[in-house]
Amino acid sequence: MPESTYSFKQLENLVKKNFTNPDLDLLRRAYQVTLGAHQGKIRLTGEPFVNHPLAVAYRLAEMGLHINVVIAGLLHDVVEDSDFGIDNVREIFGDDIASLVDSVTKLKRNVNYRGVERYAENLRKMFLAMASDVRVVFMKFADRLHNLQTLYAQPKHKQERIARESLEIYAPIAGRLGMSEIKGELEDYAFAYLQPKEYERMKSIMDIKVREKGAYVSRTIDLVEKMLAEAEIENSQVYGRVKRLYSLFKKMKKYSDDLDKIYDLIAVRIVVNDVEDCYAALGVLHQKWRPVPGRIKDYIAQPKPNGYQSLHTTMFTSEGEVVEFQIRTQEMHELSEYGVAAHWRYKEGSGEQERNMRWMEELAQIQKELASKKDFLEQLEYMKIDVFNDRIFVFTPQGDVIDLPEGATPVDFAYAIHSKVGDKCVACRVNDVMRNLDTKLTSGDIVEIVTDKNRKAPNPDWLKFARTRHARKKIKDATRNTIKGWFAGVLHGRERVKKG
Ligand code: MN
Repeated sequence: MPESTYSFKQLENLVKKNFTNPDLDLLRRAYQVTLGAHQGKIRLTGEPFVNHPLAVAYRLAEMGLHINVVIAGLLHDVVEDSDFGIDNVREIFGDDIASLVDSVTKLKRNVNYRGVERYAENLRKMFLAMASDVRVVFMKFADRLHNLQTLYAQPKHKQERIARESLEIYAPIAGRLGMSEIKGELEDYAFAYLQPKEYERMKSIMDIKVREKGAYVSRTIDLVEKMLAEAEIENSQVYGRVKRLYSLFKKMKKYSDDLDKIYDLIAVRIVVNDVEDCYAALGVLHQKWRPVPGRIKDYIAQPKPNGYQSLHTTMFTSEGEVVEFQIRTQEMHELSEYGVAAHWRYKEGSGEQERNMRWMEELAQIQKELASKKDFLEQLEYMKIDVFNDRIFVFTPQGDVIDLPEGATPVDFAYAIHSKVGDKCVACRVNDVMRNLDTKLTSGDIVEIVTDKNRKAPNPDWLKFARTRHARKKIKDATRNTIKGWFAGVLHGRERVKKG
């Protein structure tokens, strides 16, 4: 795996290249702060720790995200690792950068590892909670990608856990957001650790194919360039793209290891000016070669659920080879690489309000499209837009996330954990302070319920403030049972009296 180490100078140069009028002074100050905060700290790879925030910031700058995100990337481990607190960050770097750093820090603190399944659920919810600012998710991805690049230095059990999380949690989220480049990277890094034998097998298949077909693909590219020029389709780029290893692995499984059924091991990609040129290019290709039936896909007219757009066609070309072509505009290309992040690229001016609005619309759109697909029901569950408007996320002292409606109280929380906890709860601590059971909880609260095992039933008065249907039902049921029990007791007593 290539390891990416960048100097501050390289970061600065990239920022100068990618941004108009970036605040280089602020960037330098962030570097100074980071240097100071991580001074003397060494990563397991043997490098100075500061290489990590540098790599994260570099990646964010490459993605073309706002300069504030790049600076926050430099600072992302500072609060956790040093005495340099979030208030110091705010004072020097302003509210926006401070809120980014704060969100990333909280994301780390609140997530406890308690078995992959549970962890997955937690992290999904965390992503939701944090998704009110999508930039935090990009920072998290950049952080994770660098940690994967340096994973070899970690002990084996940690490698396995981090790789599994990346494959099972981070990659699908990147996919949902349409960030196929990042999704592919996450998957391939993780794949190498989780199934090293299969990874090597896919790699050697790919190596052989590239060796076999490399020359042929170059000839095809040259030919297509000429054909497009003759058809006066200007400014096109034509190049070969090699399938990612994990994606190949999944396809091999689907086709029972029959390589001949996989047409896109090496595909030819054509990037053109506009949509018109996409169809024109497709016409040029189809005039020259015969398309394989059933393999022409118009994802421009009918985009994939994550927004992906392109024209795909597979053809029998002159040399008897079968090749897949992917045709798209530059904009579609960026969208497929960066997903929703594409909208945030190079948009220095857009305010936070606008950014969040777009993010909401984006999610609403994804949700709508997913709703029509049964397979995506699971994704739908964590993409639900209403969680942003009227849900809160609170934590158990062990770090599990419980999501509740706005206005929920410790009683709702107790019943969400277990009805026995609800029935027997007598008091609670919110963020380590004793509170009344009718306290309204807010997102991020850590709630601990105190129970009394001798308590027989919930207090019917709780119905005055319990918010969730679940808690209300349990309280009503339990109270009804108590009354019935009492009534039965009374009847029984009377009977005895009679007899006696
Ligand atoms: Mn980090």
